[in-house]
Amino acid sequence: MQQPEACWIRVLLFGNLNECVISGYGNLVIEDREMGVTARFNRPNQALTVRMDAGKLRIGEHLFDGDMMIQTETPFVFTVNELPFRGHLRLSRNDDGMTFSAINHVPVESYLCGVIAAEMQSYWEPEALKAQAVASRTYCLFIKHRFGRGRDWDVRRSQAHQVYRGMAAETAPTNEAVFQTAGIVLVCPDKSGKRTIFPAYYSSACGGHTENSRFIFGDSFSVLRGVECPYCRKTTRSDYFYWTGPLFSREEITRRLLGRYPSLARLESIEQIEAAQQSEIGRIVSVRLTGTNGRTAFLRGEDFRLALDPSGRKLKSAIFTIHRTDRGFEFVEGRGFGHGTGLCQSGAQALARSGSSFSEILQYYYPGSQLVRLKEQG
Ligand SMILES: [Zn+2]
Repeated sequence: MQQPEACWIRVLLFGNLNECVISGYGNLVIEDREMGVTARFNRPNQALTVRMDAGKLRIGEHLFDGDMMIQTETPFVFTVNELPFRGHLRLSRNDDGMTFSAINHVPVESYLCGVIAAEMQSYWEPEALKAQAVASRTYCLFIKHRFGRGRDWDVRRSQAHQVYRGMAAETAPTNEAVFQTAGIVLVCPDKSGKRTIFPAYYSSACGGHTENSRFIFGDSFSVLRGVECPYCRKTTRSDYFYWTGPLFSREEITRRLLGRYPSLARLESIEQIEAAQQSEIGRIVSVRLTGTNGRTAFLRGEDFRLALDPSGRKLKSAIFTIHRTDRGFEFVEGRGFGHGTGLCQSGAQALARSGSSFSEILQYYYPGSQLVRLKEQG
């Protein structure tokens, strides 16, 4: 079961706790990271409450000087606030001295079992699930190597990175997709021609053409340049492919945008919204905002959409036409669901249904990429 630490990933489960309840399916061995001493709790399924006490973590009579590393024993499963996860748990005190974070240290393959079932329907084609597993593995390792060094964790468990629901989400078909592709990732040539992993983005339904990542995330990987996708229209819900957004009043738009971007207060109130730049396929790359005082500001299209609708379920993508009315703004002629970069999940399902393998699907959506197997050391 043990893997080299390089094949593990650290997932931020909760960032702002005052207290939490933990338990192990097996024994728990809790190490005080400051003192190097351990406490052993030999009662499986016993609920232990951890709380902050004068800047230190406490369990009952045990006061810990440093952060807590909670190692699980077989079957390597614990719960935090009744949610089951594989691997180990670190409780790390935050700089405010009042709260702590819960971080799941978990082997990458076990992590992916909790991701694939949350990111794709478990009844989808096995080859589509396998394509998702390879994309998710590549993506999380890229994020780990790029951003994990300077902080206590590698990825969040939300859509900000990949949705991760731990063991509660796992299903047999999605676990099978992870195991059948274990250790396989995507690589592409970097600027010097060396093979490197890249952020293998994916989204629900691209709307007919995937997007160049340069317009969404600012990357310049050649494998993320966007391809035609006549496939997702066949499998996605019709209202995910063609949609009309709700009407937002000018007051509502001003409130939401200033709530997310306080510097926009210099516009006073938002009076006009226009597409400032659109990609070749019609996605709004940036919007120009004009205030009641005549000042202007620019926002990236994705940032604008998610500031107005953080759920992303009303303004489903940045492909839309802005329509000004007496009552506010409407976002009409919408197409697709998600940011549209990289693998189109609904397109992958359509391709798998028509007989494509997971490697064919991946090479279609990440053109020029290669599949490789990670070495033992990760
Ligand atoms: Zn598509």
